[in-house]
Amino acid sequence: MIIMKFGGTSLGTAESIQNVFRIVSERMDRDPVLVLSAHAGVTNSLVEVARTAPGGDADVSKIEDFHRRLLNDLDLPVDLLDEQLGEMADLVRGMALVSEASPRVRDLLLSFGERCSTRLVAAYFKQQGMEAQAVDAFEIGLRTDANFGRARPLADDGRIAENMSKIEGIPILTGFLGRDADGNITTLGRNGSDFSAALFGNALDASEIQIWTDVDGVMTADPRLVKDARQIPTMSFGEASELAYYGGRVLHPAMILPAMEKSIPVRVLNTNNADNTGTVILSAYEESGAPVRAVVHKNDIHLVNLVSPPMLQQHGFLAKVFRIAEAHEVDVDLVATSEVSITMTADRADHLPSFCEELGELGDVTVEPDHALICVVGQGIAHTHGIAAQVLGTLAEAGVHVRVISQGAIKVNIGLVIQQVDLHEAVNRLHSHFF
Ligand code: ADP
Ligand code: ASP
Ligand code: MG
Repeated sequence: MIIMKFGGTSLGTAESIQNVFRIVSERMDRDPVLVLSAHAGVTNSLVEVARTAPGGDADVSKIEDFHRRLLNDLDLPVDLLDEQLGEMADLVRGMALVSEASPRVRDLLLSFGERCSTRLVAAYFKQQGMEAQAVDAFEIGLRTDANFGRARPLADDGRIAENMSKIEGIPILTGFLGRDADGNITTLGRNGSDFSAALFGNALDASEIQIWTDVDGVMTADPRLVKDARQIPTMSFGEASELAYYGGRVLHPAMILPAMEKSIPVRVLNTNNADNTGTVILSAYEESGAPVRAVVHKNDIHLVNLVSPPMLQQHGFLAKVFRIAEAHEVDVDLVATSEVSITMTADRADHLPSFCEELGELGDVTVEPDHALICVVGQGIAHTHGIAAQVLGTLAEAGVHVRVISQGAIKVNIGLVIQQVDLHEAVNRLHSHFF
């Protein structure tokens, strides 16, 4: 069997859902299991509702109208999702009553995006004469810890495959969602449906995990930033995970591991151009000649500087710093140290004040917002001389100031931090240089 994951961008309109049906019906011989995101824009709207609900200002009508319009456009009963939409509205009223949006309740609210999209698409498939069943991942056995908003999956004990064997027709699974040991619904983090697809692929021993999106595959840079970005035909798991981790949002970073564990090829495909072969990610690396495969980036990076003269000759200083980062759930992507200072990147703007306050016990802390991270990715970087020199030379010519640079131990990437204002110029210059 294969996993076919369709992202929100592939489910945004009636036409795109009709297109998804065509794509799936042409692949029935491969025994597809579908994993779906919420329709484009719905999760963002739910995030906004979660923010405003405790103050009593939330408006769910936009989300209700969106789904009813889509049902109407597809000639499906407009009351098909009344149960889910009603539950959602009740929850929002409850949040206003108690003036609270705990992480647990927030995840419950966000779950309605995928719970609606799977039911709507399953109903459309049935209307077209294809047997299909919407399945909630949290009912079928996708178990996670209770880290709401970014839950981590627990090892599968075989129950997913066992439960799935009882489903009639094509299973249409919710992406993004799981359940903790107490029965609460959890979410796997934004963009997490890719991760769900890989977890189901692993649990069901899929022969391929297909990620259907709105571009022709993984590209040499984000096509929204670089006009002449090119499609990459094949990549290694190592390259793909660096690319995903350092910003290529086309894939969720955590999805590579479950696929790699069972050597299941991941194929990234375009719903608007289904005949294109897309990008295949495999364990065996195929030498392409070029050492650099992609230039990716991440926005909204904060630089945190810690200056601490006592750090000199002190054992375990970095351990203390990272224990604090862990306690405040701040992910550090890049770090540079000297004898008396540390500069690191931090991603969670919401957790920064408390993180910096505790860090202040170790030395003087300053924060520089408005930075971006660029990552030059390629397996060939490990055995090609002078890539770092080319990267720095190109940026120097462009007048871009580099704040931090790092090369990882597995040597498939060079990471740099620059100012946000320089991002467009820097990525485009590097892309022209290497491609
Ligand atoms: P989906 O709804 O299918 O999950 P996403 O918006 O999450 O879609 O991911 C697809 C988008 O990722 C593309 O439209 C593109 O703008 C962006 N992207 C960023 N970096 C890359 C890259 N290196 N290759 C391809 N797409 C990229
Ligand atoms: N719907 C979720 C989000 O927008 C998960 C996903 O689309 O992958 O983040
Ligand atoms: Mg996505």
